[in-house]
Amino acid sequence: MALPIQPQRATALLNALTFADEATAIYSSEDIIIEYANAAMLTFWGKDDTIIGQPLEVGVPELKDQPFKAMLQQVLRTGKTDEGIIATETRIDNILQTRHYAYKFRAVLGEDGKPELILHTATDVTERLQGEAALREAQEQSEALNQEQQLNEELASVNEELTATNEELRQTQEQLAILNTDLEQKVQLRTYDLAQSEITLQAVNEELSAINEELTATNEELFASQSQLQQLVTDLAASENQVRQIVASAPFPIGVYVGREMRIQLVNQSIIDVWGKGNDVVGKTYHEVLPELEGSGIYEQLDNVFTTGEPFHARNQRVDLVVDDVLQPFYFNYSFTPLYDQSGEIYGVMNTAAEVTDVVTARMNSEENERRFQFLLNALPQQLWTASPDGILDYVNDVVISDFGHPAEIIIELGWQAFVHPDDLPAAVNKWQRAIKTKKEYLNQFRLKFSDGNYYWHLARAVPMVVDGHVTFWLGTNTNIHQQKTNEDKKDEFISIASHELKTPLTTIKAFFQLSKREADINSKLHPLIEKTDRQLDRLGRLIDDLLDVSKINAGKMVYNIEDFDFGQMLADTVESIQQTTKKQHIELHTTCDIMLRGDQHRLEQVLINLLNNAIKYGPDADKIIVHCTIESGNIIVSVQDFGIGIAEEHLKGLFDRFYRVDNSSARFQGLGLGLFISNEIVKRHAGSFWIESEPGKGSTFYFLLPLNGKQHFTDIATDNHTYYQGSFINIHYKAQGHYMDVEWIGYQNYESVVKGCEIMLNLMSKNNCSLVLNDNTLVKGNWSEAADWGAEVWFPAMAEAGLKKFAWIYSPSTFSRIAANKSLPSEYDAVQVAFFDSKDTALQWLTK
Ligand code: ADP
Repeated sequence: MALPIQPQRATALLNALTFADEATAIYSSEDIIIEYANAAMLTFWGKDDTIIGQPLEVGVPELKDQPFKAMLQQVLRTGKTDEGIIATETRIDNILQTRHYAYKFRAVLGEDGKPELILHTATDVTERLQGEAALREAQEQSEALNQEQQLNEELASVNEELTATNEELRQTQEQLAILNTDLEQKVQLRTYDLAQSEITLQAVNEELSAINEELTATNEELFASQSQLQQLVTDLAASENQVRQIVASAPFPIGVYVGREMRIQLVNQSIIDVWGKGNDVVGKTYHEVLPELEGSGIYEQLDNVFTTGEPFHARNQRVDLVVDDVLQPFYFNYSFTPLYDQSGEIYGVMNTAAEVTDVVTARMNSEENERRFQFLLNALPQQLWTASPDGILDYVNDVVISDFGHPAEIIIELGWQAFVHPDDLPAAVNKWQRAIKTKKEYLNQFRLKFSDGNYYWHLARAVPMVVDGHVTFWLGTNTNIHQQKTNEDKKDEFISIASHELKTPLTTIKAFFQLSKREADINSKLHPLIEKTDRQLDRLGRLIDDLLDVSKINAGKMVYNIEDFDFGQMLADTVESIQQTTKKQHIELHTTCDIMLRGDQHRLEQVLINLLNNAIKYGPDADKIIVHCTIESGNIIVSVQDFGIGIAEEHLKGLFDRFYRVDNSSARFQGLGLGLFISNEIVKRHAGSFWIESEPGKGSTFYFLLPLNGKQHFTDIATDNHTYYQGSFINIHYKAQGHYMDVEWIGYQNYESVVKGCEIMLNLMSKNNCSLVLNDNTLVKGNWSEAADWGAEVWFPAMAEAGLKKFAWIYSPSTFSRIAANKSLPSEYDAVQVAFFDSKDTALQWLTK
């Protein structure tokens, strides 16, 4: 701390201070009166000594806003020195400047020992301070430089690394450089051109930009292929590993043999198994492992692949290998493929194979079977053919080829229709299409045109080969029945001539016998003989008549003598006259048919006689025959019931055919099998029909129907044309609940009624969008079999087309109706299910379940 200055020495000091460099001033009193200021201080203030004696703030008004006065007053009050550096605004050379001063305010004590004056010294330190700041800045800069130096060194080493990296890129860029050089040359050329012409400038610029674009694109491509290459290398490593695994686990044999000596380098389990030489094969040569292949040509194949580089492929090749110590034949598809190293040299051969022993053996077997089959087909004397499931001819045997005189391909291309007689073709096509649809046997007769230009009758038969419910092909035969047919025609001709020739002498003999009978004495021994012979002559006459009738029917020359006659009377008379011929059997006649009929009385008599004679003949042990005659729905219904041997169901259909006789009866019963054929023809010509109910061992009932008005009538009763139809022969109702058609047939049907009823059924079914039909035949009587073919060929397919899905058929008790039902409905037809029932309840259950 500074000591207060003694007043007596003040004047001398003041003088000394006047010239001091240090600015000095002295102030007194609270008002800070400037008692003294040396030149340096005045210069600071920019004032002259006129301000001495003035308060500080008056003399130096610039200090007014500065804290000096308060600071000085503080020193005067406390006596404590105040020093420091202060920035002050000072006007120098009339410019207001901020300067820094180191100041000191020191109290000068009075006599009373209290502060009386203040000594103010000040030095301008602005420059000094600025110097210090500059020095500090310089130091900081130097430090920063040092750091930068260090950083630069680090950067240099990074740069070196970068240079090395760049060097790697350099090679790649060399190509770029070449391109660039090329570009530069182009640019130079263009620049030269530019100088030549202002106009070309534009073009050059454009090309330049195009080249630049190319260059950019090339660069991009280059970059892309570089990264692709990188990816490839990575992938390659992965896939090499995968390949090894694939080879090892491949289910087919793989082997790799290296060097011309074919040293085994890589094999999988599959090839080891095929060779059957154990696992220890790697490192050995192919020849060492498989010495049995010597002479098979395989060594040479391998060597050839190795030396020429041409791969070798073999198919179904037999290779004999020693497996389990036995030389056995195997079959392989195999390949030998050359393997190349990086320099493009072949270093080995890869062997891949597939064992096909089973396949080849199976094929050889099937070829052998095929040969045998072909042999069989061609050894048959018949025409034999096959067709695809949809009926297209695809094979014919040698018989067909030789009959038609064309190669198989031509026949197959033309199809069998090309050889069928035009008259027989429509029916044949129809039947064939039906067989295809129903997948059932095809049976037909037609004439086929042979290479000699003539037509020959054939019986065609085809059956489908069905596997898992699907037809795989059709096998058909055409049997030449021409001889048979010709014989039949000849037979008819012979019968016709013979019966005519027999008829004339028989008539003469008969006349002589009538005369002899009259002449002979009734008691003579001759009389019974004459009677017997006469009966035999009658029989002979009937036989000849039958034969004549048949030939007339065949020739369409049967003449009918139509007139009104008393049917009841005719019936009674016929029964009575037949009763004359038998004593054993009694013929009961039950009739309500006291009625006139328009028809051929003689021919209808013939029908009755035939039925009654059969009833007697085939019921030798029975004692009665019942004849019924009723009138139902405008028809005469006649039945002849016997209690004889009966007829099995399978024979019923054929009874009306010419010369048809049930086998077992032929030995015991005489006859030609013509009676029913003729009777049926006669009834048909009266618009009627025939049917039979029979049980073997119990007897038979033969029925025939004759419409009273020459035609059966079927009348409409009511219909709304949408949900129901009621007729005299059928009732049809759409049952909304259960969504099915309820169809009930009533009484005696024929072709006309069946067609009419079926068409109404189809119509109502479609209108109601219905797919289910309940077809009830419980009340059906008689025989409508002439409509069965139409049903199967026309109507049923139309029903299927209209959306029929299920068809339940309740059988009629009539056997002939049942037979017709089975004939008119295929058991399987596209998507339609068909089933037959005996009761309506079970049928309905099946239909609506
Ligand atoms: P046939 O002269 O042989 O009697 P038909 O045409 O009259 O010729 O009859 C054909 C066949 O029908 C007969 O051979 C016989 O087998 C059978 N047949 C006909 N009527 C009867 C019957 N009432 N009972 C049993 N079988 C009969």
